[in-house]
Amino acid sequence: MTRVLTGRDGQSFTFDPGAFCLELLLTGGPGKYAYWEILHTPDDLADWLQDSRLAAIAPLDDLRVRPAELRAVKAFRDTMLSVALALAHDRDLPAGALETINDAAGPVPRPRIDPATGRRTWVGPVTGTQILGAAAHEAIDLLTGPHRDRVRECAASNCLLLFVDTSRPGKRRWCSMERCGNRNKVSAYRTRQT
Ligand SMILES: [Zn+2]
Repeated sequence: MTRVLTGRDGQSFTFDPGAFCLELLLTGGPGKYAYWEILHTPDDLADWLQDSRLAAIAPLDDLRVRPAELRAVKAFRDTMLSVALALAHDRDLPAGALETINDAAGPVPRPRIDPATGRRTWVGPVTGTQILGAAAHEAIDLLTGPHRDRVRECAASNCLLLFVDTSRPGKRRWCSMERCGNRNKVSAYRTRQT
């Protein structure tokens, strides 16, 4: 489940964050992450969700996000960023982070089978609170599950992308082989040549 991202240099590449709660970090954040901010209005969140891991489970075509819910999603996102950075760099979790995640772990989107098509849908409208709940439930799974020590920041020094390595060998270092992985190979090659 990948997303196509475009770097500041214009290069497009695919990136798999490995979890919805980490995919959310692609929408922006505080400080140096603010350059990537795209969630300005509730509709921005609704648009972004159309290509998300949640929409891959079933289409999110009936969404209702209120301004307060958008603020809550962004606050959760910023907490999740600090949690992911702490996990990736073996630091203590920031104070209050777990309370924020626990508080967000409320209702989640309700799945249903459409009797006409046999396909999975969500009971609509899916609310911003349910989106937040889905991210928080998953964050709790991540923090208490086998992949807790697999949260990583891309090993390239100029790359801010965070992901959970769900591969069996657990040796993923790069956001994307197409981008940072390949650049590293090229620079290692150049180093050997000189
Ligand atoms: Zn990278």
